Formats: sequence, structure tokens, C-alpha cells
Amino acid sequence: MSKPFYQCQRCANCCKWPGEVVVTEEEVVSIASNLGLPVIEFTALYTKVRANRQGLTLVEKANHECVFLEGTDCTINTVKPAQCRGFPNTWNFPGWRQVCEAIPIEPDAAPHA
Ligand code: SF4
Ligand code: SF4
Repeated sequence: MSKPFYQCQRCANCCKWPGEVVVTEEEVVSIASNLGLPVIEFTALYTKVRANRQGLTLVEKANHECVFLEGTDCTINTVKPAQCRGFPNTWNFPGWRQVCEAIPIEPDAAPHA
């Protein structure tokens, strides 16, 4: 039996829990361009070094929401990092079903990336 595709229900829970949102160098360039900011300014305002010192993560608000979350909308949706696009299909963690409202659909009905 093939693995189901989990279709996001846009609950935004994954944008609210504490944890790193990793951004690659290419994603930094892409998001900065989308926001109309120089890379150096975007990096200073919206990113910090990851806890393991291996690259950058987006900063969070005081309540741990992602800095780019407004209500339940991602304000950089068209250029959001691969980590955001992939969850929960390309990666997830034990217990993710308790916090994510995505529903399983037949892989044939899944949108193509
Ligand atoms: S970049 Fe967008 S999708 Fe990713 S955690 Fe932030 S608000 Fe959510
Ligand atoms: S927690 Fe799951 S359903 Fe909710 S926005 Fe994230 S991926 Fe979508």
C-alpha cells in the first residue's frame, strides 16, 4: 500500500510551536528579494544562527510564533522555506498527528510540487 499524502488544513499550528525554521542561503536570497530587502538587512532583522551553529533559522515572536505568521497566514507563503513546505510529508516527528490537522488523501490526488 502506498503512503498517504497529508493535505495541509492551514491550522498554522506548525508555525506556532517553538523550534527552528531552517533557512538555506538560497532561501534567504529568495525571501529577502520577495520582501524587497537587501540580504544583509533581511538576515539581521529576521534570522539568527541556529543552536548547533550550522546555518540560520528564522526568528520567532515572544510567543514562539514564526515572525512571518499573521493570524493563520504565512506572509511569505510563495517563498517559504523547504522545511515549511515539506511538513508533514517529507519530515515529521513522533507525535506530530496530535498537533497537525493535515488529512490523509490518496497519493494520486496529491498536488504536484
Ligand atoms: S515561514 Fe511561513 S510557513 Fe514557515 S513557519 Fe513561518 S509563517 Fe509558517
Ligand atoms: S500543522 Fe499541519 S495542517 Fe496545520 S498548517 Fe501545519 S502542516 Fe498544515
